[in-house]
Amino acid sequence: MNVRTRIAPSPTGDPHVGTAYMALFNWAFARHHGGEFILRIEDTDAARSSSESEAVIFESLRWLGLEWSEGPDVGGQYGPYRQSERREIYREHINHLLDAGHVFQCFCSKLRLDEVRQAQQKRKETTRYDGFCLNLSVEEVAEKVSAGEPHVIRMKVPSEGRCVFVDELRGEVSIPYEQVDMQVLIKADGMPTYHFAVVVDDHLMKITHILRGEEWINSVPKHKLLFEYFGWPMPKMVHLPLLRNPDQSKLSKRKNPTSITYYRDDGFLPEALLNYLALMGWSMPDEREIFSKDEMAQAFDVSRISVRGPIFDQTKLRWLNGQYIRALSAQDFSQRVVDFVLNQDHLSQLIPLVQPRVERLSELAPLVDYLVGTRKTLTEEDFTHNKLGPEEVVRVLHHVGAALEQHTTWARDDLFVLCQSLAEAMEMKFRDFLFPLFVGIGGRPVTLDLFDSMVFLGSSISRARLREAIEVFSVSGKGRKQLDKSYEALSRNL
Ligand code: GLU
Repeated sequence: MNVRTRIAPSPTGDPHVGTAYMALFNWAFARHHGGEFILRIEDTDAARSSSESEAVIFESLRWLGLEWSEGPDVGGQYGPYRQSERREIYREHINHLLDAGHVFQCFCSKLRLDEVRQAQQKRKETTRYDGFCLNLSVEEVAEKVSAGEPHVIRMKVPSEGRCVFVDELRGEVSIPYEQVDMQVLIKADGMPTYHFAVVVDDHLMKITHILRGEEWINSVPKHKLLFEYFGWPMPKMVHLPLLRNPDQSKLSKRKNPTSITYYRDDGFLPEALLNYLALMGWSMPDEREIFSKDEMAQAFDVSRISVRGPIFDQTKLRWLNGQYIRALSAQDFSQRVVDFVLNQDHLSQLIPLVQPRVERLSELAPLVDYLVGTRKTLTEEDFTHNKLGPEEVVRVLHHVGAALEQHTTWARDDLFVLCQSLAEAMEMKFRDFLFPLFVGIGGRPVTLDLFDSMVFLGSSISRARLREAIEVFSVSGKGRKQLDKSYEALSRNL
């Protein structure tokens, strides 16, 4: 068998380390078997998907050295590899299932669906579609469709029995059908949902093994039914444990930087980050901790994947990165430093900022220290200000952080306007409003222009610095909720 695996990220937001982790395991599995690793972009959610996000996914997976042999940017014989370009293919396939009676049109309004769900919640039942439109006659359906009534297409699900499947890592899994929803496969706008597109694409792209996050395990019954409705063999499945925060919750950007770009821009070596991600779910037969992706691929064996939720531990990652750095030859290390700090791109951004400000070349380094390296570790004292109290400082840091989470472009003027309108909405003088940001980003009240600095540092590092700055104040969970609420109220008028 020609092994084919895939990674199927959705281009929404920053490229997640979880995506790199899944990509690595799929890559290693394919490589071990001399097969192919492909990249598919799952952009059926048009409102949330962006081409910028897609570009950063490509860039950061390449930075890690995980190459794919087929994908939207490299082509391949089973394309297109972007789901938004496969509408015709989904249409043909759903028609096939409609003709065979495995799926049905559903005309229920949102209002009705909400009522059904609330009633089920009250009765403490699994919330799921109640099958109302299954009772429509063929004529009724035809009439509604020709009258142009908006509708979705749902899959039929057996009303009793269990779905039994094998997960290569966990063994036999059995899920009662009563917990399986009559999933919407085609939305009212004609776009497929993830569940439909993933099955059609995995089959047409000849995927033989699916290695993905354990959050998808409860979706397997839907997928398995679809494979059966089509009469297709199902790829083998491996559900990997999800990366977790130190408190065991799912890795989230609230508690940990999650973007691959953060680790790149903070000076982690790609091979160290990959090694760390490998350790999250895998151990070498000889249990050694330091190994390359090629060594991992050579030894790869699904039975050595651990099922326990691995903790993404920054301290351990830093330790490992240090091991890699110390193992570099002096020449290699100096090349990395030049590439990271003194590259042409950095210099051309920095020169216009510093040239007008210095009289001697020796003044340069202290001006840009927080840009080319970490800023100082902050304490509450750093935020002492004659007009702002700690609560106001926290409010600014939080609200700017929250606004930046939703902000996709990272251009100087946009950032400036965003902060200006936020200061206005918070009824603060712009000068005062900027103070906590200067300290949060640069470590002191006076630095080079704040917005130029943020552009230079990039979104991942800037956001992380503001997040760390709030941590100095040890805000309680309740305090955070209040901050979220007050930001939400404010953001409506932005
Ligand atoms: N687009 C899904 C995700 O990003 C893919 C899940 C899968 O691998 O089936 O999580």
